Formats: sequence, C-alpha cells, structure tokens
Amino acid sequence: MIDIKNNLTIIEQQILQSCKQHHRPKGNVTLLAVSKTKPTDLIEQAYNAGQLNFGESYIQEAVEKIPALSHLSGIHWHFIGPIQSNKTQLITRYFSWAHSVDRIKIAKRLNEHRSTQDTPLNVCLQVNISGEASKSGISINELPALVDFVNQCDHLLLRGLMAIPEKKAPLSSYQTMQQLFKSLQQTQQLKYGAKAKIDTLSMGMSNDLDPAIAEGSTMVRIGTAIFGERTIK
Ligand SMILES: *Cc1c(COP(=O)(O)O)cnc(C)c1O
Repeated sequence: MIDIKNNLTIIEQQILQSCKQHHRPKGNVTLLAVSKTKPTDLIEQAYNAGQLNFGESYIQEAVEKIPALSHLSGIHWHFIGPIQSNKTQLITRYFSWAHSVDRIKIAKRLNEHRSTQDTPLNVCLQVNISGEASKSGISINELPALVDFVNQCDHLLLRGLMAIPEKKAPLSSYQTMQQLFKSLQQTQQLKYGAKAKIDTLSMGMSNDLDPAIAEGSTMVRIGTAIFGERTIK
C-alpha cells in the first residue's frame, strides 16, 4: 500500500535539501500536492498528514472530488490544467487559485464569473518557456499585455508566473523564468507599491524539483512522488 505520509515527508526533506544547497531561505517553497486522477481517500490521507494545498487538472473530475472533501477545513484547491473558456465558471466556483491563465479571453471570463464571490481568484500566468515543445502558455513577448489586462480585473489577484519546462529542459529555461518573475515583481511594485502581491513562481514537478528550486521556484507541483504513478490519463 502507498504510504502518503511517508512520501510527503521525503518530498519535504528534498525541498529543504534543495533550499539549503541553493541558498534559498527555508520555508520559501510551498508544496502543492497534485492529486489529479487520484481518489478522495488518498487526498484525505495527505490532508491528515498536514498537507493543505492540492492541485487538479481536469475540471470534470475536480467538481466531484472537491465537494466530497468540503469537510476538510483550510484546504486550498489550485487549478493547474489547460483552461477552456467553457470551464471558467466552474473553476471560479470550486478553486481559489488558477495557475494556468495564458490568454486575455480566459482572464476576462474568470474575472466575470468570480464577481459573484467575496474573494478574488489568485492567478498565475503560464509562460510557454519551452517554445514548440508546449502548446500551453503565453509567449514572453505577449506577457506584458496579459499582465496589464489582469491588473484591470477586480476579481483576479495576480500572484505570479507558472511554467512547465519540457523534459530535460536546459537550466537556461528555469533561469529565464526566474528573470521574468523578478522583473514582474519589480514592475508591479513600482506600479502598486505595497499592494503588489507577486510572491509565486509555480515551477518544478516530481522530476525537476531541484533545478526549479535552484532558480527561484516558490511553489513546486508534485504528483507522482506523493501519490504514485498515474495509470489513467
Ligand atoms: C500532473 C502535473 C504535475 C505533477 O506532475 P508529477 O510529474 O506527477 O509530479 C505538475 N504540474 C502540472 C501542470 C501537471 O499537470
């Protein structure tokens, strides 16, 4: 049987180890447990071991699991999959974060649907850092216009950037993300002062946790190393 608690402990240790090795302050990297395709009992085991942030990629699956786990107080749901326009309403209803916003049209719809709720939706903009290898994510050239648009959205709170570097991506891809993130922090700070809240670089998965942390990731999205291999999807 899979030992979720033990897997979480091992990952937490790897995160601390990478932080130490790359001179990152302890506690600077949040673990997002990616529970897509995994049943609610495993999610509950992770929660009981102290895990509060969970990531899902498939909206149809998520809208069944999230209400079934509504008794777990303090749990936070992050949408990390590709976002289609017809799914934006469900995302705003069930999630407190969306990491994969990569088009103005999607930001606009998320903003409209979120207006019915008290709190803004936390948003990361997904950057296509590996070019041809990935279809998702906005190009670096188009990023500033998307930032400007999201800044105008009252029901979206811009928190940072997200990337999925291709397998065996060069370290330069991670470095570019770190530069983009830092420059976003600076420009938002200049514009909004203390109100700017750019604190999230969502980067790193089970297989590239270390280079991601080396290059400034503040949130790693880990599925397989916590919940085991996914057999479906
Ligand atoms: C599935 C997924 C992950 C987790 O990947 P693992 O290799 O299982 O750790 C992270 N980020 C995104 C966007 C995903 O879709």
